[in-house]
This record gives sequence, C-alpha cells and structure tokens, in this order.
Amino acid sequence: MQVLKGLYQVGGDLNGITFDQPGAMWNDANSYILDTSQGLLMFDCGCGDTMDQIFDNMRYWGLSPEDIRYCLLTHPHFDHAGGAHILKKQGVKLIAIRETADAMASGDERCCGYLYHKCFRTVTADQLVQDGDKLDLLGIEIGVMHLPGHSMGCTAYSFVWDKKRLVISGDVIGTLLSGDFGWSGSIDFNKKIYIESLRKFARVDMDIMLPGHGMIYFHQPRRRVEEALNAALMQWR
Ligand SMILES: [Zn+2]
Repeated sequence: MQVLKGLYQVGGDLNGITFDQPGAMWNDANSYILDTSQGLLMFDCGCGDTMDQIFDNMRYWGLSPEDIRYCLLTHPHFDHAGGAHILKKQGVKLIAIRETADAMASGDERCCGYLYHKCFRTVTADQLVQDGDKLDLLGIEIGVMHLPGHSMGCTAYSFVWDKKRLVISGDVIGTLLSGDFGWSGSIDFNKKIYIESLRKFARVDMDIMLPGHGMIYFHQPRRRVEEALNAALMQWR
C-alpha cells in the first residue's frame, strides 16, 4: 500500500496487508519501505513467516527485495523483528538501539516468541544507535528517539520526506480507535519509564505518524500522543 510518493506499507496484518494465520491480528506488525534514489530503507520487518508476502507486495510496487540496504527495528518483539534473520541472510544491514539488539541476539522472552507459540530466531544487529543520533542513510537524515516503556528497546525514527516530518513510532502509543498505549504484557514493560517516554514524544511535532499496528495518522498525530500522555498520567500514578 502506498502511503506517500516513494513510501509504502508492505506488511501488517491488522489492515490485511499480510496474513499469518486465521484469527491473527497482531502476529505481523506494520513494515514500511522508503524508496530513496540510493536503495531501499525498511522499517520493521514482521514476524518472518510473512516475508514472502512482504516481498510480493514490494514487487507489486516495482520495488526489488534485493535492493533493501538497511532495516531499522523499532523494538525486538516477534511481530516486528521476527523476520530480521531472513533479511540478514540476504545482506541487509540491521540497525537497532542497544536494548533491542541485545534482545534480538539472545531471542529470550523480551522478544515475546512465547506469545505467538513461535521461536525467535536470534540475529545480530550490524549497527547500534542511540537516542539523539542523526543517521545518514542513503542520503536521508534519520533521527533516533529512544522511547522505552512498552519494551526497553522501543525506538522511533524521524525523517523529512516530501516536505513532511514523518515518525515511525513502533508500539509507543496505541493506534486503534480506542486505547492509548502499546501492549502492557512485555517482560520489561515499565509504566514509570513509559510515562517519561510519552512526555518526551508529546513534545515532538510531526506531520505523519506511522505506527507499528493499525492506522497511519496523517493529521496532527501529536494530539494522539498528548491524549496517551494524559491517559498515562491519570491511570498510572
Ligand atoms: Zn510491541
């Protein structure tokens, strides 16, 4: 599905872009492809069992899976990073913050394989990033924001594309019609730290927010984050 010129959602089972198994709505998080003039950047990669569907979706839009240069992971949960080992094998460089890279390298409960009755295939990140970094990837400046709470590795990536300020937000906020937060079952879920992340994220002005599940917010997504911050302050203290 095309989001903007040169930007595509290529995976995600909540809106039927990919399909893992009957009844599954959360097995496959949203994955996105940015088509730069120097190759493809990918953000999250789904659970792994849908990688062929993701690649087919890409080919439909004229994007070659062999042209993916980097995949930036928002956190180590199975539905977002389970397919990373497949990308690694085809030479894609994996980028993650240390907490996410640690979890992906160990494949332990922080990756939530148990939740899907699947086994997380361990994989090593190629490049570690940290909060505040400005990466230059394929000519695009990508900002790194560490927003832990839903998991300790939660990371959002920001960049300007077609004169719009975009943020790939992972599971930092809930993105359905109801509900404000990402899932609260992670072994490293932490309300106090999550509130601080929402506080930080609510200061970020952006035009479009591309979340880990469900709907993309094209209009004043910051308001959605402010609502989540308000709900957290009301409920979690
Ligand atoms: Zn998650």
